Amino acid sequence: MSVSRRGFIKLLGAGTACLGLSKLGIDLGPAQAYAAGLKTEGCKEFVSICPFCACCCNTIISVRDGKIISVEGDPDYPVSGGGLCAKGAALLTMHVNKHRITKPLYRAPGSTKWVEKEWSWTIDRIARKIKETRDHDFITKDAKGRQVNRLESMFQLGSSQMDNEECALSHQMLRGLGVVHMDHQARI
Ligand code: SF4
Repeated sequence: MSVSRRGFIKLLGAGTACLGLSKLGIDLGPAQAYAAGLKTEGCKEFVSICPFCACCCNTIISVRDGKIISVEGDPDYPVSGGGLCAKGAALLTMHVNKHRITKPLYRAPGSTKWVEKEWSWTIDRIARKIKETRDHDFITKDAKGRQVNRLESMFQLGSSQMDNEECALSHQMLRGLGVVHMDHQARI
């Protein structure tokens, strides 16, 4: 019988625990039957990757009835050996999270209240503000007359929920506008 590394680790973990408890004279029959029916029972497993950094750690995603039930590290992946850092370990909450905000929130200048807005309104406003700021502040030459073509009055802070591709696209867009100030939450 061939056993994958993942299967081997599962067997090893279960075997070690059973050995310890059975030595104490504890009947593991009911516990073993229950453990076999834990939350991922009946789930379909998919190998995927964590999108948050260039390590690209493999993940095992368990799906039941079209819903993600669990995301864990893949022990068969040689780079991480089944480990995930804090961001990767919290991947499930990127998909399943009742606190997740699904509509843009806008706080008017001087206001203390956040108001829900439609995406079309939000995107129009952001585009208008970017254009106004760039038209007003774009610098073509520095104090010594050297060509610089940059925009110093705009800054972007990337969210920790942005994945590699989103970061790359966002970075390219900002560089295209001449923005020189940008950072990412993960670096702070
Ligand atoms: S789990 Fe952590 S180290 Fe691995 S890809 Fe995700 S962010 Fe990078």
